[in-house]
Amino acid sequence: MFSLIPKAICSLGQAVQNVRCIASLSALPETYQMMYKTCRDFAENELKPNAAVYDREHKYPGDAIKKMGELGLMSIFTPENLGGTGLDYLAYAIALEEISRGCASAGVIMSVNNSLYLGPLINWGTDKQKQAYITPFCTGDVGCFALSEPGNGSDAGAASTTAKDGGDKWILNGTKCWITNGYESKASVVFATTDKSLKHKGISAFIVPKPTKGLELGKKEDKLGIRGSSTCSLIFEDCEIPKENILGEPGMGFKIAMMTLDGGRIGIAAQALGIAQASLDVAVEYASKRTAFGKPISKLQTIQNKLANMAMQLESARLLTWRAAWLKDNKQGYTKEAAMAKLAASEAATFVSHQCIQILGGMGYVSDMPAERHYRDARITEIYEGTSEIQRLVIANQIIKEYGV
Ligand SMILES: Cc1cc2nc3c(=O)[nH]c(=O)nc-3n(C[C@H](O)[C@H](O)[C@H](O)COP(=O)(O)OP(=O)(O)OC[C@H]3O[C@@H](n4cnc5c(N)ncnc54)[C@H](O)[C@@H]3O)c2cc1C
Repeated sequence: MFSLIPKAICSLGQAVQNVRCIASLSALPETYQMMYKTCRDFAENELKPNAAVYDREHKYPGDAIKKMGELGLMSIFTPENLGGTGLDYLAYAIALEEISRGCASAGVIMSVNNSLYLGPLINWGTDKQKQAYITPFCTGDVGCFALSEPGNGSDAGAASTTAKDGGDKWILNGTKCWITNGYESKASVVFATTDKSLKHKGISAFIVPKPTKGLELGKKEDKLGIRGSSTCSLIFEDCEIPKENILGEPGMGFKIAMMTLDGGRIGIAAQALGIAQASLDVAVEYASKRTAFGKPISKLQTIQNKLANMAMQLESARLLTWRAAWLKDNKQGYTKEAAMAKLAASEAATFVSHQCIQILGGMGYVSDMPAERHYRDARITEIYEGTSEIQRLVIANQIIKEYGV
C-alpha cells in the first residue's frame, strides 16, 4: 500500500527477531508488519521495563515519548509534507496496540496527540495553522483536546465554556476538565460556545497555545490507572487568543468534536487491545510455569477455558478495530464500526485483565507482577472518548438509521 516507510522505522524494524506475531498480521502488506515489529521492539526494550515505575511514581515517560516522536509514532497518519509519517489509520491501530502493550500511559499520550490533537488540525486547519501547530507536534511536543467540563462529559453539547468575539481576538472563559496531556501539552484544541442560543450548533473549536495569559492548570488528577499520563483541568479566565486561532468556521465545533472522536475511538480500541494482549501474555506464561496438584495449571481445563475465552474476545475485538480503521482509510462510513471496536476492545481489556489476575491467584493481586496494573489501566478504556453506555447509543442509533425505521 505504501512504497516508502520512514527510514527510522525500517532500520529499527529489521533489528527485531523472533517476535511472536499477531496471527492475522501476516496477511497484511509489509508496511504494517514493519510497523508492528518496530513498535513491538520499542515496547519490549523501552516501555515494558519502565512501565511499572511510570505507574508507581506517576511519572510522565518524557524520554520514551521523544523517541516515539523520532520514530514517527506521534504523527502516524499526518501527511509527510506537514512533517508526519504519512501512513494510515490501520498502521496507527497496529502501532498503538503494541505501544500500549508495553505501557498503556504511553499509549494514551500517543493516541491523544495523533487523533485528538493532530486529527482536527489536519482536517480543518488552515495552511498557517497547520505549519504552526502540526509540524512541531510530530516529533515530540504534545497537544491535547479539551471538550469535557465539570458539568458535562457524555453530554458534550452542553458546554458552558464561552468564547467572546473581542474584535481582533477571542476571549475564553470557563473550565475544561479531565484533559489528557494537559500538563505537558504545548497547545490544545479547545471547544467553547460562541452563541449559546444555538446550543450545540453554537460551539466552536479553537487552538490555544500554552503558555497563554489567562490559561491556568488545575491539579494533576490522582488516577486509578494510566498514571504515567497527566490529566488535569484547563482554567480559562479572560484568556485572549488571536482571531485567526478559530478552527474551521464558527459553530462547527460540535461537528469537529464528534468527527474527531469517531477516529479517536479507533485509537482507544487499539490501546485497549494492547492492555488485553499484555494481560493474556502474562496469563499464558504464568499458567505454563505455575504447578498445582502435580502439573502446570495450563493443563487444567478450567484454566484452559479461561485462556480460550480471553483470546477469543481479544481477537474478535482486534478484527473489529482493524475493520473500523480500514473503513476510515477507504473513506467509507465508520461511526458505528468505531463505536463497536471501542466497546468490544475496552470490554475485552476489562475481561482479559480480570481473568489474568484470577489465573495468577495471589500473584495477580500484588505489584510484583504487572497483572494488577493492566487491570487498573484497562478500566479507563470503558470511560473516556465516550463511555460504554454512549457507544451502545451510537451503535443503536446507527443501526436504526440503516434500517430506515
Ligand atoms: C483519565 C481521563 C482522561 C480523560 N481525557 C480527556 C481528554 O483528554 N479530553 C476530554 O475532553 N475529556 C477527557 N476525559 C473525560 C471523559 O471523556 C469523560 O469522563 C467521559 O466522557 C464521561 O463523562 P463524565 O465523566 O462527565 O460522566 P457522565 O457523562 O456524567 O456519565 C456518568 C454515567 O452516566 C452514563 N450516561 C450519561 N449519559 C447517558 C445516556 N444518555 N445514556 C446512558 N447512560 C448515560 C455514563 O455512561 C456514565 O456511566 C477524560 C476522563 C478521564 C477519567
